[in-house]
Amino acid sequence: MWKKLLADLQLSILMLVGGMSSVIIAAFSVYRFLNGNVKVGLLDATITLAMVGTLLYAWRSARNTERAGRIMILVNVAGAITSSELLGVTGAFWMYLAIVVNCFITTNLRYATGANILMLLSITFLGHGFDSTAQQLSFLATSGLLTLFSHIIADRLSQQQLTLKQQASVDPLTGALNRWRMEEEIHLAIEEFTRSQMPMAIILMDLDDFKNVNDRHGHEAGDDVLAGFADMVRGLTRQIDRFFRYGGEEFLMLAKGLSPEEAQHLAEKIRSQAESVLTGKHGRVTVSAGVAGAQAGESWMQWVARADAALYVAKQSGRNRVHLAD
Ligand code: GH3
Ligand code: MG
Ligand code: MG
Repeated sequence: MWKKLLADLQLSILMLVGGMSSVIIAAFSVYRFLNGNVKVGLLDATITLAMVGTLLYAWRSARNTERAGRIMILVNVAGAITSSELLGVTGAFWMYLAIVVNCFITTNLRYATGANILMLLSITFLGHGFDSTAQQLSFLATSGLLTLFSHIIADRLSQQQLTLKQQASVDPLTGALNRWRMEEEIHLAIEEFTRSQMPMAIILMDLDDFKNVNDRHGHEAGDDVLAGFADMVRGLTRQIDRFFRYGGEEFLMLAKGLSPEEAQHLAEKIRSQAESVLTGKHGRVTVSAGVAGAQAGESWMQWVARADAALYVAKQSGRNRVHLAD
């Protein structure tokens, strides 16, 4: 359970705020019934049930967290408006909670803010429990500002989250995806291969005698070669080909929809282009590659290991060549 929550931030926020709100509103429901206020007791019980139902829906269907979040927003808006109708200003307090919560349970902030504005305008102008115009205006001003600030903060947070995700998955020197993303994507590719039988291949590439480049021309020149190689590969491949930095001067390409022979052809294209492009003040730099097509029943590590064994053969056969795994 914790693993599922930790892996999905949106789901964990939804569960946390939805769970806590349900418990508190359920307690209010009991309190209202005990005091003989059946109408409000029923309202609170209905909101609690709607929230628990939405949480169960989100929990069961992992892919529908977003939809569940939007349903929860509707529940919050309907709940706040109805409680203000039934309880006047006392009920309207709940709207402040709904304004903040709504901004954090969907990735579509426009939807949340649109719902918040609708909620605050209808409570301010259709509600009838205000003591004075001054109170009504204060209510409008405070809830309007809270809507604005919640929107700004939620927007900043989601921007930062996007930047962090980007930084956590891209290698800054070469712009290739990093190893963490590689494991995840190969894993998913195996699932897709098992499901659809679409051919897939891995091309594992290693720059030849790269230590010499660093030794002779310095680490910075080595870095330039790595960045140049990555640019060159990106220019030769399709959008759906996934390109990762496997480690130091080793790169891995996940080519979806390519048979082993087609991937071998692509690897050969990369090898021959590197031979002509990666020349300069650091001399000639070549690349060796091992190619392995996906096979049924294999783990991602076994698949990469076959490509690695093929790369080893390419190195042993004299470097600057491509070898296809059995
Ligand atoms: P082989 O043909 O067998 O692959 O020989 P090699 O010299 O390429 O292999 P080896 O594993 O001995 O050396 C790899 C070198 O790659 C050593 C390391 O200094 C260099 N390297 C790894 N990462 C980087 C990097 O980010 N920048 C630079 N400039 N060099 C790197
Ligand atoms: Mg190496
Ligand atoms: Mg090398």
